[in-house]
Amino acid sequence: MLIDTYGRVATDLRVSLTDRCNLRCTYCMPEEGLQWLGKPDLLTDDEIVRLIDIAVTSLGITEVRFTGGEPLLRPGVVGIVERVAALAPRPQMSVTTNGIGLKRTAAALKAAGLDRVNVSLDTLRPDVFKTLTRRDRHKDVIDGLEAASAAGLIPVKVNAVLMPGLNEDEAPDLLAWAVEHDYELRFIEQMPLDAQHGWKREGMVTAGDILASLRTRFDLTPEQADERGSAPAERWLVDGGPHRVGVIASVTRPFCAACDRTRLTADGQIRDCLFAREETDLRAALRADAPDEEIARIWRLAMWGKKAGSGLDDPSFLQPERPMSAIGG
Ligand code: SAM
Ligand code: SF4
Repeated sequence: MLIDTYGRVATDLRVSLTDRCNLRCTYCMPEEGLQWLGKPDLLTDDEIVRLIDIAVTSLGITEVRFTGGEPLLRPGVVGIVERVAALAPRPQMSVTTNGIGLKRTAAALKAAGLDRVNVSLDTLRPDVFKTLTRRDRHKDVIDGLEAASAAGLIPVKVNAVLMPGLNEDEAPDLLAWAVEHDYELRFIEQMPLDAQHGWKREGMVTAGDILASLRTRFDLTPEQADERGSAPAERWLVDGGPHRVGVIASVTRPFCAACDRTRLTADGQIRDCLFAREETDLRAALRADAPDEEIARIWRLAMWGKKAGSGLDDPSFLQPERPMSAIGG
């Protein structure tokens, strides 16, 4: 097991497949100037599958989420999913994507064994989308969402980040749209993980703001506490159900005590937290022909020292060196 000194057990592995992206969301990446990882630094498909194999057979991982950067930009993504689906025990598998590549890949991903997708979409307005992501691709995301539903990658979850002065007024519209299309919507509080280090606690749209805005149009009933488990989203039934809406309040209501995550970056580093400032190099061990047991031992040790919390609310908080796109969100 991947256990830490506070008794938390990590069963959910986030795998970043690339640090590159075809959008430039302002809360994540700068417009230009970000250094990409070089090809030799990236784990190969074989190396990724081997590490996931070790994670599910020796370390108790039951859920694998592919992310990035934009994971669908990785040429081998369908093959990786297919090989992970053949592992025993087979983990649950999902992808977090900006949705642009889904029209092209949703059916193949489903056939390869993918269970679900989380698609990030912050606005229903193409002009706001263009400002937020610096790319004119709104329609591609909408098409991608439809392709995911049609392929049976359900329930389709939609992640939205609200930014002050841009889309902060859109929460009720996004929820009405999600209910209509049977997408499960979750709002994520903006976190200090942008490459430009431009995040400001004072300016951010908080979970409290989001809920107040939603309540102007919807009746929200909290989900039973025991239904949440280690899920980061607090969820509410919308107008009595069956649709739900979630809020991931990483900043104002952190859920670190229930965290069950371990992260693998595209260049083979283990991170015990999104906000960790240290990483553990598994790639070096892999490339030095370390046996599976040795890699599992290094991974266990990396997780053992996980801190109690992200430290976000502490005045001494320091943002990690890597931006969200390079960590794997
Ligand atoms: N490119 C894919 C996507 O956008 O879904 C996967 C990677 S992205 C880093 C994963 C998630 O992190 C997205 O839902 C995105 O909105 C969210 N995200 C990125 N930067 C963030 C930030 N600073 N605060 C909160 N969420 C952020
Ligand atoms: Fe790309 Fe996702 Fe970051 Fe947006 S949030 S720039 S889509 S990695």
